[in-house]
Amino acid sequence: MNLVESTNVNNTASFKQALINPNALEGGLYSPLTLPFFEGEKYADLSYKDFALKLIESFGFGEEELFKKALKSYDNFYDKNSPIALQKIGEKTYLNELWHGPTRAFKDMALQPFGVLLKEFSKDKNILIICATSGDTGPATLKSFENMKNIKVVCMYPKYGTSRVQELQMRALDKGNLKVFAIDEDFDAAQNTLKQMLASKEFQEEIKTLNYELCAANSVNFGRILFQIIYHYYASLKLYKEFQEEVEIIIPSGNFGNALGAFYAKNMGAKISKIKIASNANNILSEFFNQGVYDLRGKILKKTISPAMDILISSNIERLLFAKFKDLRTKELMNLLKNQKYFKLEKEELQSLQEDFEADFCEDEECMQFIKQSKILIDPHTATCFKMLNKQKPTLITSTAEWTKFTPSMVKALYGRDCKDEKEDLKFIAKEFNAEVKEEILTLFDFTSKEEKVFKANMIKEEILTWMRK
Ligand SMILES: *Cc1c(COP(=O)(O)O)cnc(C)c1O
Repeated sequence: MNLVESTNVNNTASFKQALINPNALEGGLYSPLTLPFFEGEKYADLSYKDFALKLIESFGFGEEELFKKALKSYDNFYDKNSPIALQKIGEKTYLNELWHGPTRAFKDMALQPFGVLLKEFSKDKNILIICATSGDTGPATLKSFENMKNIKVVCMYPKYGTSRVQELQMRALDKGNLKVFAIDEDFDAAQNTLKQMLASKEFQEEIKTLNYELCAANSVNFGRILFQIIYHYYASLKLYKEFQEEVEIIIPSGNFGNALGAFYAKNMGAKISKIKIASNANNILSEFFNQGVYDLRGKILKKTISPAMDILISSNIERLLFAKFKDLRTKELMNLLKNQKYFKLEKEELQSLQEDFEADFCEDEECMQFIKQSKILIDPHTATCFKMLNKQKPTLITSTAEWTKFTPSMVKALYGRDCKDEKEDLKFIAKEFNAEVKEEILTLFDFTSKEEKVFKANMIKEEILTWMRK
C-alpha cells in the first residue's frame, strides 16, 4: 500500500519515501487513503512485539524484516517483554503507561523504532536530522540516533520552555553525532526556524555540498504515527477481554499525533467507543471538537505546567479531516486556516467528528488538584485526563510521561510550596510514594555541561554549518 497526500490523493509515496522525506508535493501530509481492517482479537494473546508486527503487516507496506528489526528497539525499554504497562487504578480504570522507554516519555514509543527504520532506509546516504522540541521530542530523538555513523542530529529547544530534567537529558547527549542548541526565544520561534531551514533551497544546497541530506523527524512523519496506533489497539483489546464492553480512551493532546493513532486504531477495528481529547488552558482542540471551529485569531500561547501540550497549531488534525472528509475539503479547510486563521465545519461534519470524539480542557489549578488527589504519582500531562473520566465505563487513561521530569510542578501540586533543590525534592517525593527513580534521571543532576550558551534563532543556520564542517 502507498500513502497519499491529504490535500491531493493523486500524489502518492511509498512508506519508505514518506519516512525519509515527509514533505509532500503540495504541503499536505502523507496519510493512508483507507485504513486496513485488522482482526486484532485473533492475536490478543501475542506479545506486544508480535502483535505490533501483525498490525503493521495489515498495512501491506512490505519490508517485514525491517519492521521486525525496528520493533526490537523495544528491548531498550525497562521491561523487555512489553514497552507499555497497564496499571489498574479503579474498578474499570487503567493507566496505559507509555513512558517506560529510555527518556521517560511516550515519544520513545515511536522514535525508538523510527530511528532503526531511518538508519536502515538510508544505508548508502548521510542524513542530517533537525528537530525543534518543547521538551520530550528532543531527548527521544537524540537518544534514538545516538552513535549512528551516517546520521547527525541537531536539536533546538527554547531555553526557558522545557523542564530542567528535559534540558539536562539533551545536554548530556550533546556530543559526537548529536548537537544541541538552546534558543533564547519560545518554541514557536524554534519551530519556525526549523521550517525555514527545511524550506530553504540555499541551505539544502550547502548541506548537500557537505554530502548530507536533510530530513525532518517531526511528529507529522507518518513513520512515527504508525507506531502510535499499536498501543491503543493492544491495550483496548486487553480491557475489552476483561469487561466485554467497548473501551473509552482519554488522551492528553497537543499536536494530536497520539490521539490520531487511537482514531486509526478504532477505524481498524479496535473496540474503542469514544476517544476523549484532554487539553490544557490552550484549549483549541476542545473548541474544535465541541463547536466545530478552529480559530487561531487573537489567540496567544499560554505557558502551563503541561508544556508538551502548549500548542495552538495542532498539525495532525489535518489527517483527521482527510480521513473524515477527503482531500478536496481538507485542502479547502487548511487554506482557510492558513489565510484567515479560522475555519468552521458544517453541522453534519461536526456530528461526524463527535461520533468518535469528546473533548474538554483542564486549567493548571484543576490539574494540580488531580495530582494531589491521586494515590499514585501522575505527571501534569496525564493529570489533564481525569476531568473526563467516567468511572462506570472501562477506560484507558493514556499516561504520556513519568512524573520525574516535572518535579517542581509536582512539589507545588502535592505540598503547595516551591521546589528548592530539585534532586532533593525528587528523592523526597519518591520516598513518600514508595516510587522508584531510575538512575538515568538521578545522575542527570550531577551533569555539568561544558557551555550553556544561548543562541538567537537566526544564528542557528550558521552554527549548524560550522558544526557540520568540523
Ligand atoms: C508530546 C506529548 C504530548 C502531546 O502529544 P501529541 O501527540 O502531540 O498530541 C502529551 N504529553 C506528553 C508528556 C508529551 O510529551
